[in-house]
This record gives sequence, structure tokens and C-alpha cells, in this order.
Amino acid sequence: MSELSPNAIVANLKAQGLRVTPQRYAVYTNLLGRRDHPTVEQLLADLNQGGPVSSQATVYNSLQALREVGLIREVLLEEGVSRYDANVSPHHHFRCRCCGCIEDIPWDAFGPLAKAALRPGLQPESYEVTVQGICDRCSSPNNPCDAG
Ligand SMILES: [Zn+2]
Ligand SMILES: [Zn+2]
Repeated sequence: MSELSPNAIVANLKAQGLRVTPQRYAVYTNLLGRRDHPTVEQLLADLNQGGPVSSQATVYNSLQALREVGLIREVLLEEGVSRYDANVSPHHHFRCRCCGCIEDIPWDAFGPLAKAALRPGLQPESYEVTVQGICDRCSSPNNPCDAG
């Protein structure tokens, strides 16, 4: 996804009926180029690296617009923390309980949902799995993390 050309990114925005603004373009391009599921604050810091160009409100508005048309998704793995993901195909997540980093896990890492195990009458529509654990950085011997 990160190899999308600028033209393809603009085409994606337009295909969803979004007016292409510099903010939306910048936010979407930034998200396509990373896999770490950033928060609004992390996105803002990244976008403003070369000097302040975006405010939190404009970044947030761009995220909402992109999310409403399905180009990005909101990932809620911690209470009260919204993270954003440009990978909108079905997948699961790994969350490090030490540093809090989040990585994608391929959808086919788990078998199909055992619908027979659900109480009769429940109709599942979507689900995803969050695997909690320790990432390789945090499990290395010289990491100060004491969770391992
Ligand atoms: Zn970690
Ligand atoms: Zn993800």
C-alpha cells in the first residue's frame, strides 16, 4: 500500500467522493506509509516535522472524513485511545503490553469463527482478534521494559 503513487492516492480520494485537500492528502499519504497505527498526536507530530503546517483540529477533521468513506479505519485497542490504520482489509492486531506498539496480523492467522459455539440467535457480523504479548524490541535483553 505504501507504494501508491501520488496520482493513485488522489484517485483513491476522488473515487470515494472526497474533495482532495492538502490536509486530507497529507494525512492519507502519511497513514499509507506507516504500519504503526498512530494516534492523532503522533500523526500531527509527524506531519509537522518540517515546521508547523497542521493543527490537531485539521488533522482530526481529515481523519474523520477519510474514515467516513472507508479509506482508513479507527482502531480502538486501549480505552480512550483512537489509533488510525490505512489497512482497511480484514486483519487482526498484535499489541505489545510493554511499549504499546501495535502490528497487523494477517486475517488467515486464525481459523473461521466457530459459529456453532455462539448462543443460538446471535448473528455475528464482524470480529477481529487482539493478541497481547511482548514485541521483539521489548524482549531483547537490554530493554528496560520489566514486563517480560
Ligand atoms: Zn514492545
Ligand atoms: Zn491494523
